[in-house]
Amino acid sequence: MMMTILVFGSYDFLTKLPDQIHERATNDLVAITDFHQAVAQIQIASPDVIFVQASLNGSVELCGWLKEQAKLYYIHCILVEDRPQQLAQRSQNDWQWELEMTAVALHQGADAYIWQLPTEKIATHHLILSQLTVGLRKAQKYRDLLQKNHILSAIALADSLTDLNNRRAFDWELPRQITRARNHNSPMSLIILDVDYFKKVNDKYGHLVGDRLLKLLCTRIRHNLRSQDIAFRYGGEEFVVLLAHTNGEEALKVAERLNRIVGEQTFSINNKLMIDVTISLGVACLQKDDDEQGMSLLYRADKCLLAAKASGRNRVISWPQLLQLSSLDAVS
Ligand code: GH3
Ligand code: MG
Ligand code: MG
Repeated sequence: MMMTILVFGSYDFLTKLPDQIHERATNDLVAITDFHQAVAQIQIASPDVIFVQASLNGSVELCGWLKEQAKLYYIHCILVEDRPQQLAQRSQNDWQWELEMTAVALHQGADAYIWQLPTEKIATHHLILSQLTVGLRKAQKYRDLLQKNHILSAIALADSLTDLNNRRAFDWELPRQITRARNHNSPMSLIILDVDYFKKVNDKYGHLVGDRLLKLLCTRIRHNLRSQDIAFRYGGEEFVVLLAHTNGEEALKVAERLNRIVGEQTFSINNKLMIDVTISLGVACLQKDDDEQGMSLLYRADKCLLAAKASGRNRVISWPQLLQLSSLDAVS
């Protein structure tokens, strides 16, 4: 299998590496000698393996930097020892000294430490190619793991009946959206909606038909949202939509559209059964004094939903409308 390889070293260093690494690299191998350029290139290319020339300025720093990067730690970093002083000392010192040198290199962030011995060219190349195989194995395992993680998190965050994001995804996403809205000084809103008299559907046609209706309803809702809106199944037949970059008035319009598209067109369960349902919706917009978990925002939207239910169902009530209704009640 091919892999992406980067070389932090001089052109001369690159030419001394075994020819086979050119054959196994998906990319053209170029000699990068500047630390900042290497960092930029690593972030762009996400290589599987990187060769580092020990005698180059910044070599140790690069190994250390790699290990500090949470998303790049998997890159197999091979530090190739070519410093003349170290090579000279090696012939005068014993095994213990050499083992200590290796320990230091690994401690500094390298995954492998290879001596570039001019007298042992074949053995050195052999070792380098073996380390390339280790790097490839690591990269493959990492990619498999990443793919599995991706699948598992998709399963963990999706609702199996409707394919919408589930409650867990909502609990995770709401504080994130609030933080993002505040950091960008941008509005955000929340719609909570609930199917009217859904129990009657189950009682009359059975739960399987109820399930099918929920699926169709969710598909219709999802197709009528804008790209920045995210819908979640909050529980049962209750759903939440998070609307990024959206003020209260715009959110009210989205909610009114959802109310229309559900109520105005029948749902065909199969070619014999058509069911009409309506939804009630509550809308609230993020305020300055809302808590960062979104509890107060959710509370206001839920109050609006309850008011929509209490005042006859099949309607939208937003927080400003609810305040107005409450003040009118207080006067009368
Ligand atoms: P309201 O207008 O006040 O919301 O009335 P409702 O009948 O919709 O409200 P209620 O909360 O009393 O009933 C909700 C029903 O939704 C009860 C429950 O059996 C049903 N339900 C919740 N989740 C599912 C589901 O996944 N499938 C089916 N078929 N029914 C569900
Ligand atoms: Mg209901
Ligand atoms: Mg309900």
